[in-house]
Amino acid sequence: MNGKNWFVAGIVLAACFVGASSGRGAEEAWNATLATGKKPPAAAPREDGKLSIIAFGAHPDDSELKAGGVGALWAAEGHHVKLVSTTNGDVGHWSQAGGTLAQRRLAEVRKCDTALGATAEVLDIHDGELMPTLENRRIITQLIREWKADVVLAPRSNDYHPDHRYTGILVQDAAFMVTVPFFCPAVPYLAKNPVFLYYSDSFERPNPFRPDIAVSIDDAIEKKVNAIAMLESQMVEGCCGGDERLVPKTKEEYLKRMDAVRERLRNRFAGVANQYRAKLIELYGEERGKKVKYAEAFELCEYGRRPSIAELKKLFPTFAK
Ligand SMILES: [Zn+2]
Repeated sequence: MNGKNWFVAGIVLAACFVGASSGRGAEEAWNATLATGKKPPAAAPREDGKLSIIAFGAHPDDSELKAGGVGALWAAEGHHVKLVSTTNGDVGHWSQAGGTLAQRRLAEVRKCDTALGATAEVLDIHDGELMPTLENRRIITQLIREWKADVVLAPRSNDYHPDHRYTGILVQDAAFMVTVPFFCPAVPYLAKNPVFLYYSDSFERPNPFRPDIAVSIDDAIEKKVNAIAMLESQMVEGCCGGDERLVPKTKEEYLKRMDAVRERLRNRFAGVANQYRAKLIELYGEERGKKVKYAEAFELCEYGRRPSIAELKKLFPTFAK
């Protein structure tokens, strides 16, 4: 499909999705539930005994960068991992935009998430235009419920980018509502509130990120950097701040650039391990904690279920080894 056709198809798809989840559709579902005079049923748990993890990012690379390693480790253990982008990323490039870019980024992130062992979902909301509306609160609530999430990951709401901030706000706004039976009754509520955690970041105001758990991703680092390198419009071509010089012109240049991208990513996640070294040592013990090369770190949200650190270690991979 060309950009224009894709854009039209996107509108139709978005209309179907939004129509079922908000506005008149939500109102009708609510009235129908009230008419039964009964509390709606809770979501049935997954039957395979595996965990369900849903990670939200604002753009088709955010959750992959922040939690792609632990996501890959969870997926390798047979757990259900979904990575959601709350916008379609259609202004995230220096020379492309609109439907063509959204379509390209959707294809890239599907490939990336498949390589991580996760399911990708991209909401058809324009990049740079995400708002913390009631309609979006319903969509996020329903996504968490449909995935029967045990663990929900999201950015904090202190961030330079409005889409990152509002993704954080929307997930926080859903943290309690996922358990409310008569809110969005068309999708069964969760009887057990999931654990909500924030990704690490470097923003200081009004309060800095405080790691509650730091996880070794050494066993998934190559899988993670190879998968993220597939997001070529971002990682190779340099996002909205890039320029023509970043685009490889020959096969040799391309291979060299991909190597540089992977190395840059390795350094980035090694930086996370070094930054949260004290937490790694606290959780893994001195000997093992010092040896971790690559890590991801998370802070427990005050909303949602608040497990002990011992239970958190059981929820996350690598600690039982
Ligand atoms: Zn982003």
